[in-house]
Amino acid sequence: MVNADLLENTKSVFRRISHAAMRAGREPDSVRVVAVSKTVEAETVLQAVEIGLRDFGENRVQEAKEKIAYLSPLIPEARVIWHCIGHLQKNKAKTAVALFDIIHSVDSPELAGIVDRHARDAGKVQRILLQAKLSDEEAKHGMSEDALLSLLGSLRTLKHVRAEGLMTMPPYFEDPELTRPYFRHLRELRDLAEKKGFHLPELSMGMSHDFEVAIEEGATIVRIGTALFGERIKSGP
Ligand SMILES: *Cc1c(COP(=O)(O)O)cnc(C)c1O
Repeated sequence: MVNADLLENTKSVFRRISHAAMRAGREPDSVRVVAVSKTVEAETVLQAVEIGLRDFGENRVQEAKEKIAYLSPLIPEARVIWHCIGHLQKNKAKTAVALFDIIHSVDSPELAGIVDRHARDAGKVQRILLQAKLSDEEAKHGMSEDALLSLLGSLRTLKHVRAEGLMTMPPYFEDPELTRPYFRHLRELRDLAEKKGFHLPELSMGMSHDFEVAIEEGATIVRIGTALFGERIKSGP
């Protein structure tokens, strides 16, 4: 893809975000765009940085590692924030902690514990989101509402992870309006957790085909690949 397409796509996504935010009575800059760069060439990511995008999402640790190694020396002062958005296997957690600023996909107490241990060893506090599964699709990762609420309690003893919010991936519907109940559910779950004394400002929800609905329901982070970079050639989960 040439730069001009990426620039046009980026403008269009930000315009649509502004309109969705305004419809919901929210400030447009209360929504952060994570540009999902999985399967996208590192050179294209570099163009995206030049356009002004700063947050990038990857779902495979090895691919992220190669891309970050390539890009880091090229973008020293434009500090890029790397988001791990895909299911994280426990044996990749150490590398993920080394690479990612924020991990959206913490989906079990075991993984939270492992991430905490690696973060301690690396001398960092790892920013995380807790992934909720609000549908009963077999293929999706994430915790049930009850599992998530009980993990929040035990996270208080882990000093090297900081849970900043919740993430979910609803089932795919042709009509994005049908995803609204899932986004609303995540917000309500967050509100319930806040009533119990947990501070969870971030809601990572909404992708290319449904981000406007997600913003209307309170998304603070939208994860957008196709609408910025075009259709992926290799299919990512
Ligand atoms: C691929 C992916 C996205 C982006 O999907 P698009 O439909 O291309 O915007 C967002 N979130 C996760 C977890 C993904 O794996």
